[in-house]
Amino acid sequence: MSSLAMQTPASPTVPATGPAQLPAVVPVYACEHGIDAEQLEAARIRLELLYGEVAADWPGFIARPGQYEMMQACLLTFLSAKSPEDEKRSGNHLAQLEAGTGTGKTVAYCLAALVAAEVLKKTVMVSTATVALQEQLIHKDLPRLSSIIPELTFDILKGRARYVCQSRMEGMIEGIVPGSELAGELQDLFADSRRPTASVVRDRQAAMRWFKSSAKKLNAGAWDGDIDSLAQSPNPQDWRQVQANAHACNGGQCEHFRNCAFFKARRQAAGATLQVVNHALVLATLQTDSSLIDAGNTLFVFDEAHHLPAIAAEQFPYRARLGASTRLLF
Ligand code: SF4
Repeated sequence: MSSLAMQTPASPTVPATGPAQLPAVVPVYACEHGIDAEQLEAARIRLELLYGEVAADWPGFIARPGQYEMMQACLLTFLSAKSPEDEKRSGNHLAQLEAGTGTGKTVAYCLAALVAAEVLKKTVMVSTATVALQEQLIHKDLPRLSSIIPELTFDILKGRARYVCQSRMEGMIEGIVPGSELAGELQDLFADSRRPTASVVRDRQAAMRWFKSSAKKLNAGAWDGDIDSLAQSPNPQDWRQVQANAHACNGGQCEHFRNCAFFKARRQAAGATLQVVNHALVLATLQTDSSLIDAGNTLFVFDEAHHLPAIAAEQFPYRARLGASTRLLF
Protein backbone atom coordinates (compact mmCIF):
# COMPACT_ATOMS: atom_id res chain seq x y z
CA MET A 1 0.00 0.00 0.00
CA SER A 2 1.30 3.43 -0.86
CA SER A 3 -0.30 6.78 -0.17
CA LEU A 4 -0.02 10.31 -1.37
CA ALA A 5 -1.60 13.14 0.53
CA MET A 6 -2.29 16.23 -1.57
CA GLN A 7 -2.91 19.61 -0.06
CA THR A 8 -3.38 23.12 -1.29
CA PRO A 9 -1.34 25.51 0.87
CA ALA A 10 -2.86 28.71 2.20
CA SER A 11 -0.54 30.78 -0.01
CA PRO A 12 0.29 29.05 -3.29
CA THR A 13 3.95 28.29 -3.90
CA VAL A 14 5.45 28.86 -7.33
CA PRO A 15 8.61 26.83 -7.97
CA ALA A 16 11.45 29.00 -9.22
CA THR A 17 13.27 26.35 -11.25
CA GLY A 18 12.49 24.91 -14.69
CA PRO A 19 11.38 21.34 -15.34
CA ALA A 20 13.73 18.92 -13.65
CA GLN A 21 14.82 15.44 -14.64
CA LEU A 22 14.85 12.75 -12.00
CA PRO A 23 17.88 13.78 -9.93
CA ALA A 24 21.20 11.97 -10.27
CA VAL A 25 20.80 10.54 -6.77
CA VAL A 26 17.73 8.59 -7.90
CA PRO A 27 19.56 5.27 -8.49
CA VAL A 28 20.87 5.51 -4.91
CA TYR A 29 17.42 6.46 -3.63
CA ALA A 30 15.88 3.59 -5.62
CA CYS A 31 18.37 1.11 -4.17
CA GLU A 32 17.83 2.35 -0.61
CA HIS A 33 14.07 2.18 -1.00
CA GLY A 34 13.88 -1.22 -2.58
CA ILE A 35 12.91 -0.03 -6.07
CA ASP A 36 14.18 -2.20 -8.86
CA ALA A 37 16.48 -0.03 -11.04
CA GLU A 38 15.16 -1.50 -14.31
CA GLN A 39 11.60 -1.04 -13.16
CA LEU A 40 12.36 2.57 -12.30
CA GLU A 41 13.94 3.24 -15.68
CA ALA A 42 11.01 1.68 -17.53
CA ALA A 43 8.56 3.71 -15.44
CA ARG A 44 10.52 6.91 -15.95
CA ILE A 45 10.54 6.50 -19.75
CA ARG A 46 6.82 5.68 -19.80
CA LEU A 47 6.03 8.70 -17.65
CA GLU A 48 8.03 11.01 -19.92
CA LEU A 49 6.13 9.63 -22.89
CA LEU A 50 2.71 10.15 -21.31
CA TYR A 51 3.59 13.61 -20.09
CA GLY A 52 4.71 14.50 -23.63
CA GLU A 53 1.40 13.24 -25.03
CA VAL A 54 -0.59 15.27 -22.54
CA ALA A 55 1.51 18.40 -23.17
CA ALA A 56 0.93 18.01 -26.92
CA ASP A 57 -2.79 17.21 -26.90
CA TRP A 58 -4.28 19.04 -23.90
CA PRO A 59 -5.68 22.34 -25.19
CA GLY A 60 -3.85 25.25 -23.54
CA PHE A 61 -1.62 22.94 -21.50
CA ILE A 62 1.31 24.70 -19.82
CA ALA A 63 4.13 22.48 -18.55
CA ARG A 64 4.86 23.74 -15.05
CA PRO A 65 8.07 22.95 -13.13
CA GLY A 66 6.15 22.28 -9.92
CA GLN A 67 3.87 19.85 -11.69
CA TYR A 68 6.81 17.98 -13.15
CA GLU A 69 8.56 17.73 -9.79
CA MET A 70 5.36 16.54 -8.15
CA MET A 71 4.88 13.89 -10.81
CA GLN A 72 8.40 12.54 -10.20
CA ALA A 73 7.89 12.53 -6.43
CA CYS A 74 4.59 10.67 -6.87
CA LEU A 75 6.20 8.05 -9.08
CA LEU A 76 9.05 7.40 -6.63
CA THR A 77 6.60 7.10 -3.77
CA PHE A 78 4.33 4.73 -5.66
CA LEU A 79 7.23 2.57 -6.73
CA SER A 80 8.28 2.28 -3.09
CA ALA A 81 4.84 0.79 -2.39
CA LYS A 82 4.87 -1.80 0.31
CA SER A 83 2.21 -4.42 0.78
CA PRO A 84 1.73 -6.65 3.83
CA GLU A 85 3.28 -9.55 1.88
CA ASP A 86 6.25 -7.46 0.84
CA GLU A 87 8.04 -6.97 4.12
CA LYS A 88 11.45 -6.62 2.47
CA ARG A 89 10.56 -3.21 1.10
CA SER A 90 11.52 -0.55 3.55
CA GLY A 91 10.53 2.23 1.15
CA ASN A 92 9.21 5.60 2.11
CA HIS A 93 5.74 4.79 0.85
CA LEU A 94 4.00 7.88 2.10
CA ALA A 95 4.46 11.37 0.67
CA GLN A 96 2.77 14.59 1.67
CA LEU A 97 2.81 17.04 -1.23
CA GLU A 98 1.57 20.60 -1.30
CA ALA A 99 1.01 22.71 -4.38
CA GLY A 100 -0.89 25.86 -5.15
CA THR A 101 -4.10 26.02 -7.14
CA GLY A 102 -3.34 25.81 -10.85
CA THR A 103 -0.16 23.76 -10.46
CA GLY A 104 -1.77 20.82 -12.22
CA LYS A 105 -1.77 18.36 -9.33
CA THR A 106 -4.39 16.10 -10.91
CA VAL A 107 -2.38 15.50 -14.07
CA ALA A 108 0.77 14.98 -12.02
CA TYR A 109 -0.59 12.31 -9.69
CA CYS A 110 -2.79 10.64 -12.28
CA LEU A 111 0.04 10.09 -14.75
CA ALA A 112 2.40 8.84 -12.05
CA ALA A 113 -0.32 6.60 -10.66
CA LEU A 114 -1.14 5.18 -14.09
CA VAL A 115 2.51 4.30 -14.74
CA ALA A 116 3.01 2.83 -11.26
CA ALA A 117 -0.21 0.81 -11.57
CA GLU A 118 1.01 -0.65 -14.87
CA VAL A 119 4.42 -1.52 -13.48
CA LEU A 120 3.26 -2.83 -10.11
CA LYS A 121 -0.07 -4.31 -11.30
CA LYS A 122 -2.00 -2.52 -8.61
CA THR A 123 -5.21 -0.54 -8.42
CA VAL A 124 -5.17 3.22 -7.90
CA MET A 125 -7.68 4.89 -5.67
CA VAL A 126 -8.05 8.67 -5.70
CA SER A 127 -9.92 9.90 -2.68
CA THR A 128 -11.46 13.35 -2.34
CA ALA A 129 -13.08 15.15 0.56
CA THR A 130 -15.64 17.18 -1.34
CA VAL A 131 -18.31 16.33 -3.88
CA ALA A 132 -17.14 19.33 -5.95
CA LEU A 133 -13.69 17.84 -6.53
CA GLN A 134 -15.14 14.40 -7.16
CA GLU A 135 -17.42 15.87 -9.83
CA GLN A 136 -14.53 17.77 -11.37
CA LEU A 137 -12.46 14.59 -11.57
CA ILE A 138 -15.23 12.40 -12.97
CA HIS A 139 -16.77 14.86 -15.39
CA LYS A 140 -13.83 17.04 -16.44
CA ASP A 141 -10.23 16.09 -15.68
CA LEU A 142 -10.33 12.31 -16.06
CA PRO A 143 -12.43 12.23 -19.27
CA ARG A 144 -10.01 14.72 -20.79
CA LEU A 145 -6.97 12.71 -19.67
CA SER A 146 -8.41 9.42 -20.87
CA SER A 147 -9.25 10.92 -24.26
CA ILE A 148 -5.50 11.53 -24.65
CA ILE A 149 -4.41 8.31 -22.91
CA PRO A 150 -6.95 5.57 -23.70
CA GLU A 151 -5.21 3.17 -21.28
CA LEU A 152 -6.49 5.35 -18.44
CA THR A 153 -9.91 4.06 -17.47
CA PHE A 154 -11.73 5.34 -14.41
CA ASP A 155 -14.86 4.83 -12.38
CA ILE A 156 -16.42 6.03 -9.20
CA LEU A 157 -16.66 3.81 -6.15
CA LYS A 158 -19.57 4.52 -3.81
CA GLY A 159 -20.77 3.00 -0.59
CA ARG A 160 -23.51 0.36 -0.60
CA ALA A 161 -26.05 2.79 0.74
CA ARG A 162 -26.06 4.65 -2.59
CA TYR A 163 -27.55 1.57 -4.32
CA VAL A 164 -30.93 -0.05 -4.13
CA CYS A 165 -31.25 -3.61 -2.86
CA GLN A 166 -33.62 -5.39 -5.22
CA SER A 167 -34.36 -8.02 -2.65
CA ARG A 168 -35.45 -5.46 -0.06
CA MET A 169 -37.44 -3.58 -2.69
CA GLU A 170 -39.35 -6.74 -3.61
CA GLY A 171 -39.91 -7.42 0.07
CA MET A 172 -41.44 -4.01 0.53
CA ILE A 173 -43.72 -4.43 -2.46
CA GLU A 174 -44.78 -7.97 -1.71
CA GLY A 175 -45.17 -7.35 2.00
CA ILE A 176 -47.36 -4.31 1.93
CA VAL A 177 -49.37 -4.49 -1.29
CA PRO A 178 -53.12 -4.56 -0.59
CA GLY A 179 -54.38 -8.07 -0.14
CA SER A 180 -51.02 -9.48 0.88
CA GLU A 181 -50.56 -11.28 4.17
CA LEU A 182 -48.56 -8.47 5.67
CA ALA A 183 -51.04 -5.89 4.47
CA GLY A 184 -53.79 -7.86 6.17
CA GLU A 185 -51.81 -7.97 9.39
CA LEU A 186 -51.16 -4.27 9.16
CA GLN A 187 -54.83 -3.57 8.62
CA ASP A 188 -55.72 -5.65 11.68
CA LEU A 189 -53.02 -3.94 13.66
CA PHE A 190 -54.39 -0.54 12.89
CA ALA A 191 -58.04 -1.46 13.21
CA ASP A 192 -58.16 -0.09 16.73
CA SER A 193 -58.02 3.32 18.28
CA ARG A 194 -54.47 3.78 16.92
CA ARG A 195 -55.89 3.95 13.44
CA PRO A 196 -53.30 5.63 11.14
CA THR A 197 -54.02 9.20 10.24
CA ALA A 198 -54.89 10.20 6.69
CA SER A 199 -51.39 11.64 6.18
CA VAL A 200 -49.73 8.35 7.27
CA VAL A 201 -51.90 6.38 4.83
CA ARG A 202 -51.11 8.86 2.08
CA ASP A 203 -47.35 8.56 2.85
CA ARG A 204 -47.55 4.79 2.62
CA GLN A 205 -49.38 4.95 -0.66
CA ALA A 206 -46.83 7.40 -2.03
CA ALA A 207 -44.00 5.15 -0.84
CA MET A 208 -45.59 2.12 -2.45
CA ARG A 209 -46.06 3.98 -5.72
CA TRP A 210 -42.39 4.91 -5.64
CA PHE A 211 -41.26 1.34 -4.82
CA LYS A 212 -43.33 -0.05 -7.68
CA SER A 213 -42.30 2.47 -10.31
CA SER A 214 -38.63 2.18 -9.31
CA ALA A 215 -38.75 -1.62 -9.40
CA LYS A 216 -40.30 -1.42 -12.86
CA LYS A 217 -37.53 0.88 -14.11
CA LEU A 218 -34.89 -1.34 -12.52
CA ASN A 219 -36.27 -4.50 -14.12
CA ALA A 220 -36.58 -2.80 -17.50
CA GLY A 221 -32.97 -1.61 -17.32
CA ALA A 222 -34.12 2.03 -17.31
CA TRP A 223 -32.47 2.66 -13.93
CA ASP A 224 -29.10 1.33 -12.75
CA GLY A 225 -30.12 1.28 -9.09
CA ASP A 226 -27.83 4.19 -8.13
CA ILE A 227 -29.62 6.86 -6.10
CA ASP A 228 -27.50 9.54 -7.76
CA SER A 229 -28.78 8.68 -11.22
CA LEU A 230 -32.41 9.34 -10.27
CA ALA A 231 -33.84 12.52 -11.76
CA GLN A 232 -35.54 13.24 -8.45
CA SER A 233 -34.19 12.26 -5.03
CA PRO A 234 -36.49 9.82 -3.24
CA ASN A 235 -37.97 10.47 0.15
CA PRO A 236 -35.11 9.64 2.58
CA GLN A 237 -37.41 7.43 4.64
CA ASP A 238 -38.48 5.41 1.59
CA TRP A 239 -34.88 5.06 0.46
CA ARG A 240 -33.77 3.77 3.85
CA GLN A 241 -36.24 0.89 3.48
CA VAL A 242 -34.71 -0.37 0.23
CA GLN A 243 -31.07 0.74 0.18
CA ALA A 244 -28.41 -1.98 0.09
CA ASN A 245 -27.16 -2.88 3.51
CA ALA A 246 -24.26 -5.19 4.39
CA HIS A 247 -26.19 -6.78 7.28
CA ALA A 248 -29.23 -7.61 5.16
CA CYS A 249 -27.29 -8.90 2.15
CA ASN A 250 -26.89 -12.57 1.29
CA GLY A 251 -24.24 -11.83 -1.33
CA GLY A 252 -23.72 -14.77 -3.70
CA GLN A 253 -26.70 -16.61 -2.16
CA CYS A 254 -29.09 -13.86 -3.23
CA GLU A 255 -31.17 -14.59 -6.33
CA HIS A 256 -30.44 -11.06 -7.61
CA PHE A 257 -26.70 -11.24 -7.05
CA ARG A 258 -25.75 -11.30 -10.76
CA ASN A 259 -27.81 -8.21 -11.53
CA CYS A 260 -27.47 -6.52 -8.15
CA ALA A 261 -26.88 -2.79 -8.65
CA PHE A 262 -24.23 -2.56 -5.95
CA PHE A 263 -22.24 -5.64 -6.97
CA LYS A 264 -22.48 -4.69 -10.65
CA ALA A 265 -21.10 -1.22 -9.91
CA ARG A 266 -18.37 -2.73 -7.79
CA ARG A 267 -17.33 -5.20 -10.52
CA GLN A 268 -17.32 -2.41 -13.07
CA ALA A 269 -15.18 -0.14 -10.86
CA ALA A 270 -12.76 -2.99 -10.17
CA GLY A 271 -11.96 -3.14 -13.89
CA ALA A 272 -10.91 0.52 -14.03
CA THR A 273 -7.29 1.68 -13.72
CA LEU A 274 -8.32 4.46 -11.42
CA GLN A 275 -11.16 4.46 -8.93
CA VAL A 276 -12.48 7.70 -7.48
CA VAL A 277 -13.71 7.47 -3.92
CA ASN A 278 -14.18 9.76 -0.93
CA HIS A 279 -12.28 9.93 2.36
CA ALA A 280 -15.29 8.97 4.47
CA LEU A 281 -15.87 5.79 2.45
CA VAL A 282 -12.20 4.76 2.58
CA LEU A 283 -12.11 5.20 6.35
CA ALA A 284 -15.50 3.55 6.90
CA THR A 285 -14.44 0.63 4.73
CA LEU A 286 -11.30 0.08 6.76
CA GLN A 287 -13.61 -0.27 9.75
CA THR A 288 -16.41 -2.38 8.33
CA ASP A 289 -16.78 -3.37 4.69
CA SER A 290 -13.16 -4.39 4.18
CA SER A 291 -13.96 -6.33 0.99
CA LEU A 292 -14.71 -3.08 -0.84
CA ILE A 293 -11.05 -2.03 -0.88
CA ASP A 294 -8.10 -4.35 -1.24
CA ALA A 295 -5.74 -2.10 0.72
CA GLY A 296 -2.71 -4.35 0.22
CA ASN A 297 -2.96 -4.00 -3.57
CA THR A 298 -3.98 -0.38 -3.82
CA LEU A 299 -2.05 2.83 -4.37
CA PHE A 300 -3.88 5.65 -2.59
CA VAL A 301 -3.97 9.34 -3.43
CA PHE A 302 -5.73 11.48 -0.85
CA ASP A 303 -6.48 14.75 -2.60
CA GLU A 304 -7.72 17.54 -0.29
CA ALA A 305 -5.83 15.71 2.43
CA HIS A 306 -6.19 18.65 4.81
CA HIS A 307 -9.77 17.41 5.45
CA LEU A 308 -8.58 13.95 6.42
CA PRO A 309 -7.99 14.53 10.17
CA ALA A 310 -11.50 15.95 10.70
CA ILE A 311 -13.13 13.14 8.71
CA ALA A 312 -11.07 10.52 10.56
CA ALA A 313 -12.12 12.07 13.87
CA GLU A 314 -15.77 11.74 12.82
CA GLN A 315 -15.25 8.19 11.64
CA PHE A 316 -13.40 6.74 14.61
CA PRO A 317 -14.82 8.46 17.66
CA TYR A 318 -14.37 6.82 21.01
CA ARG A 319 -16.09 8.09 24.09
CA ALA A 320 -15.11 7.20 27.61
CA ARG A 321 -16.55 8.39 30.86
CA LEU A 322 -13.75 10.13 32.67
CA GLY A 323 -14.92 9.10 36.11
CA ALA A 324 -15.26 5.40 35.26
CA SER A 325 -11.95 5.38 33.36
CA THR A 326 -10.13 7.01 36.26
CA ARG A 327 -11.54 4.44 38.69
CA LEU A 328 -10.40 1.68 36.32
CA LEU A 329 -6.89 3.08 36.18
CA PHE A 330 -6.31 3.66 39.88
S1 SF4 B 1 -27.01 -9.16 -3.51
FE1 SF4 B 1 -27.38 -8.16 -1.54
S2 SF4 B 1 -27.63 -5.98 -2.02
FE2 SF4 B 1 -27.85 -7.12 -3.93
S3 SF4 B 1 -30.03 -7.45 -4.18
FE3 SF4 B 1 -29.22 -9.24 -3.13
S4 SF4 B 1 -29.43 -8.84 -0.95
FE4 SF4 B 1 -29.67 -6.91 -2.05
